[in-house]
Amino acid sequence: MNDVNRAAAAVATVKLLIDGEFVESRSSHWREVVNPATQVVLARVPMATAEEVDAAVAAGKRAFASWRKTPIGARARIFLKYQQLIREHMGELAALLTAEQGKTLADAEGDVFRGLEVVEHAAAIGNLQLGELANNVAGGVDTYTLLQPLGVCAGITPFNFPAMIPLWMFPMAIATGNTFVLKPSEQDPLVTMRLVELALQAGIPRGVLNVVHGGEDVVNAICDHADIKAVSFVGSTRVGTHVYQRAALAGKRVQCMMGAKNHAVVLPDANKEQTLNALAGAAFGAAGQRCMAASTAVLVGAAREWIGDLVAKAKTLKVSGGTEPATDVGPLISCAARERVESLIAAGVEQGATLELDGRRPVVPGYEQGNFVAPTIFSGVKPGMRIYDEEIFGPVLILLAAETLDEAIALVNANPNGNGTALFTQSGAAARRFQEDIDVGQVGINVPIPVPVPLFSFSGSRASKLGDLGPYGKQAVTFYTQTKTVTARWFDDAAPSLGVNTTISL
Ligand code: NAD
Repeated sequence: MNDVNRAAAAVATVKLLIDGEFVESRSSHWREVVNPATQVVLARVPMATAEEVDAAVAAGKRAFASWRKTPIGARARIFLKYQQLIREHMGELAALLTAEQGKTLADAEGDVFRGLEVVEHAAAIGNLQLGELANNVAGGVDTYTLLQPLGVCAGITPFNFPAMIPLWMFPMAIATGNTFVLKPSEQDPLVTMRLVELALQAGIPRGVLNVVHGGEDVVNAICDHADIKAVSFVGSTRVGTHVYQRAALAGKRVQCMMGAKNHAVVLPDANKEQTLNALAGAAFGAAGQRCMAASTAVLVGAAREWIGDLVAKAKTLKVSGGTEPATDVGPLISCAARERVESLIAAGVEQGATLELDGRRPVVPGYEQGNFVAPTIFSGVKPGMRIYDEEIFGPVLILLAAETLDEAIALVNANPNGNGTALFTQSGAAARRFQEDIDVGQVGINVPIPVPVPLFSFSGSRASKLGDLGPYGKQAVTFYTQTKTVTARWFDDAAPSLGVNTTISL
C-alpha cells in the first residue's frame, strides 16, 4: 500500500443504508468529504453502483407491503421519539454540520431546528391525511375518499441545508405511509447520515428508509426506476429541470425546488437600522449559500442613499471558521465554489458595476486554506450583467435602483426566478400591493428570509419550481398520497330490487 492509499484507508467511509443495514459500497468510484474551513478530509463517500440503487429500491418495495398498513398512531409515535432524539443530539448534529458544510455553529443549529419542526409536523400528519365523505350522493349511496400512500418515494438533496432539506422529505413521505430512498448531497452527507441513524433508533423499520450516495448516475437511476413512484428534488435549476423532465417521462410524480435570485425591495419609509441589519444577515449569512438569501436589493427612491451605511454594516461582520465564537460568515462549500464566486465578482467589475466592497481573498487567521470570500457589495447593477442574471450563491449583495415601487415590482417579476422576496416598508398599502402583484413563492414583509413553518408548504414560482405541490406542510400530504374515491351502496335484504339500470345515474 502506498502513502496515498494508506491515508485514504484511514479515513472513514460513508455507508449506504439498505434494508435496515449500514453497508459499505462496492463502488470503485469515491469522493472526499472535506472541511471547507481547513481542507481536512473528513470521510470518503461512494458513488453507489446500479445494483446498490436497485437493492435500496427493492428493500423499500418489500417494506411498503406492511408499512402502508401500519396504524397511524404507531407511525406517529416513531416521529415523536425521533424529534426527541434530534433535540438530545442537537449539539453533536450542529458540530458535524459545521465541520462538513462550513456554516456557523449557531446557523447549523438553525438548519437542524428547521428540519426538526418538520419532524414534529410529521408526528401529527394523521390530522391532515383525512379523506372526505358525502352522505347520500344517491339513494342509499355514500362517496368517500382514501388518501393512500404511493409506494417507494425518493429524495435528492442539495449541499446547503444537509439537515433541514432531507428532513423536509423522508419524515413526510414515511409518516404518510410510504417508504423512501434518500440521495443526500455528496458534498456533505455526514450530518444527514447521523440523522438517518437517529431515525432508525427512533423505530423506523427495516427497509422503510434507505440511503444511496452518488451524483449524476445515481440521480438518473432514481429518475428512471420503475418501482419509484415519486421524486422530491431540491437543488439548482439546471439539475432540477433535468430531474423533473426525466422522472416525469418515466411516469413519476415530481416536485423540484430550484435556484433563486431573491430581491429585497427597500422603500425609503422602512425602518432604516432594522432593514440594514436584515439585509446584511440575509445576504451574507451562511456565506450567501441559501436558496432564500437576499442576494439582490432594489433601493427605491431616497433609499438609494443608504449604500454607505450598508457597506459599513457589512464590514462589521466577522469572517472565520464556523466553530469560532462570534463568526458571522463561514467558508464556501468548496474551492470550486470560491473560484466561481470570485470569477463572478471579476465579471461584475468588467461589466461596469461599482464594486463598493471587495471581499475576495480575505485574511482569515488560523484558516489560511479555507474557501473564504468576505462580504462583497456591488451597486449600479443592471439586468444583462452576469452578477444579475446568474445565481451567485456566495456572500455577494448586488444593489439595483428604482424610482417607484411599481418599477421595483416590474423588475422582480421580469427576473426568471421566483423563489423568495421581501419588502421593507412601514406602509401597509405598499405591502398589500406588493403581496398582490409580485410573482414569487415566498414573500416577506419586513422579514428577510420568509421560509414558511411546516403549517404551510415551501413554495416557489417560475424558474424556481417545477411541479405544483411543495415539500412539507399540507401540500406534501397530497404529493405523497393517491386519492381513491369510493362510491358505496349496501343492500338491505328487505329492500326491493333496483332492477337493471342501463343509464349513468347511481
Ligand atoms: P445541485 O443541483 O448541484 O445538486 C443537487 C443534487 O443534485 C445533489 O444531490 C447532486 O448530487 C445532484 N446532481 C448534481 N449534478 C447533477 C447532474 N448533472 N445530474 C443529476 N444530478 C445531479 O445543487 P447544490 O449546488 O447542491 O445546491 C445549491 C442549489 O440548490 C442552489 O441553486 C440553490 O438555490 C438550490 N436550492 C434551492 C432550494 C429551494 O427550496 N428552492 C433550497 C436549497 C437549495
